[in-house]
Amino acid sequence: EAIVCLKHIYKDYQQGKLVVPALKDICLEVEKGEYVAVMGPSGSGKSTLMNIIGCLDRPTSGEYRLAGEEVLKLSDRGLSDMRLKNLGFVFQNFQLLPRMNALDNVALPLVYAGVRKSVRRRQAYEALVKVGLEDRVKFLPTQLSGGQKQRVAIARAMVNQPELLLADEPTGALDSKSSGQVMELFCKLNEEGVTILMITHDRGIAEYAQRMVTIFDGELSEEKQ
Ligand code: ADP
Ligand code: ADP
Repeated sequence: EAIVCLKHIYKDYQQGKLVVPALKDICLEVEKGEYVAVMGPSGSGKSTLMNIIGCLDRPTSGEYRLAGEEVLKLSDRGLSDMRLKNLGFVFQNFQLLPRMNALDNVALPLVYAGVRKSVRRRQAYEALVKVGLEDRVKFLPTQLSGGQKQRVAIARAMVNQPELLLADEPTGALDSKSSGQVMELFCKLNEEGVTILMITHDRGIAEYAQRMVTIFDGELSEEKQ
């Protein structure tokens, strides 16, 4: 079974007296091991789709199965458990805690998962090794370059071995050299079996993925290879 299965997803926003359709009849399946880029211009509905796939928001209608579970039947608590267990998030602006070193930032999802400290430290270290930052374990975010911060954030997203890595404009705050390095890291992780869904407005970045879909004005279409 697909990891992500969206069927006929609609999302409307109320803007004053106006109802704005942000997603229209979205159907999307992401199989285990795939690397999919969702590409589209500003205002096309990417964040809205990301929030729904990320179990942060609910659609107006439709069906959504993630890792075999009917997401839309879950309570808010159920959604948050789903995020912890099955999803890793990578954001444009890294979202690292400034007073914590790289290792403690990476270990944070394991704190929420109730993993004990010695195990947390070992798993966080292993995740930092995976992204090539084992020599930066004790560094604070301010002591790291943009590309290194994003690699710490990727290690954090991976540390609980989620079913799906969700990346929202992961190179949006990076120069082209660091962007390339982060994209190479995603390709390496994907070759090791990590399923990735990346959102970007940048076609050059989207082309690193195995498969591209385009969203335009709330409607999704598959790109021909
Ligand atoms: P993107 O991420 O591609 O820029 P968004 O998903 O943020 O697109 O927005 C899609 C559409 O939905 C836009 O027309 C936007 O103005 C509207 N929208 C997004 N979030 C809200 C919200 N919370 N309330 C009202 N309208 C929203
Ligand atoms: P992004 O850069 O990811 O597209 P935006 O700047 O479009 O994000 O939106 C930032 C936040 O504001 C999001 O939470 C989005 O849902 C919300 N938002 C976007 N458009 C509107 C809108 N027209 N009315 C209210 N909230 C909106």
